[in-house]
Amino acid sequence: MIPSDLHGRADLTSLPQLARGLIDLGDAARQGSLNLPYPPSIQRVLDRNVLACLREGRMPPSSVPELVAWCTAPLSARWPSSALPGFLSAEVTLLDPRRRLPTRSCAELAAYGSDDSAEQSVVLKLEELAQAASMPALFAQCRDFLIDRVAVTNDDARGASWKPRIWKLVQHLYRPPAPAHAHNGLTTCPACGLLATVEHGRIAWCEGEVCERGPAPGPGYRAGKVRVLDSSLRLFLSLPGRTERVVMRRLAERGVTGTLLSGGLGAYQLSKPVLGRSTVQVFDRVEPLLLAARLSGSSDLLAVIPDHLARARPALLKSVRHALPPELDVVVTTQTAATEGAPQHA
Ligand SMILES: [Zn+2]
Repeated sequence: MIPSDLHGRADLTSLPQLARGLIDLGDAARQGSLNLPYPPSIQRVLDRNVLACLREGRMPPSSVPELVAWCTAPLSARWPSSALPGFLSAEVTLLDPRRRLPTRSCAELAAYGSDDSAEQSVVLKLEELAQAASMPALFAQCRDFLIDRVAVTNDDARGASWKPRIWKLVQHLYRPPAPAHAHNGLTTCPACGLLATVEHGRIAWCEGEVCERGPAPGPGYRAGKVRVLDSSLRLFLSLPGRTERVVMRRLAERGVTGTLLSGGLGAYQLSKPVLGRSTVQVFDRVEPLLLAARLSGSSDLLAVIPDHLARARPALLKSVRHALPPELDVVVTTQTAATEGAPQHA
């Protein structure tokens, strides 16, 4: 079952705040605006953890840089037990130790909760985009653009292959890459489509974290010539969007069509129920209990886990199902099981 900690103990809100603070710090550093004082989100977390450490008789972090250094080690290594809510494994790190970039676990933690969460910020950006596009068909083209392109170059932007009216609507969602990306042979991962770095002609790191690392595709992006999609949009729209497209196409082949519902990340109303549910959404998330918490407010939903993720994390699907309340009207299954569960085309 979902740990009760997920539902409101005020003193346990510091880790999601920390995750948001780490992302804020990264954004500020990238934009060259990192000046004292530090973002309030991370300063608050430092204060709370100093208190928690003192209560447990542990040495607290003395500064924000020391707190950030803690985040490059597994949670169990440094954090006071009262700050660990139990919905992340003790082995999880919030920052990649080598690149000091937020991990997927950190991003999913930042997406937890309804107020000011990373997921909510993506929903708001998509709503703004839908309003600016004004026509559903144009919004759908913009959304597809964001799913297909996590990075763009100046040359791409000048190319004739894009519709200028789409670029005009989405260009503000692209920014210079983080220094750790820009200086390390940036490319896109051939498996997950997210950002990746290349060393000696091979993928050395990819943002998706679960992909096998093979040869790098073609030439990478040159620093200064590339802009990347906002990180939350990459993880919560582009990543599941690739699987979403495959699922919707396979369902259509079986005679089930979907209509994108407004005001969300990517839920579709189905023309016929699949596995007994009338809406479908793909979730590409690595933290099972955080996903279970996310699903706990849903109903009549078929929640789809991508096949590649289910293969890479064999315990994930079972963990999510186990954590959900049995009365919840949500089916969680894999991409293959979802599409094979659709009624055959009459
Ligand atoms: Zn990848």
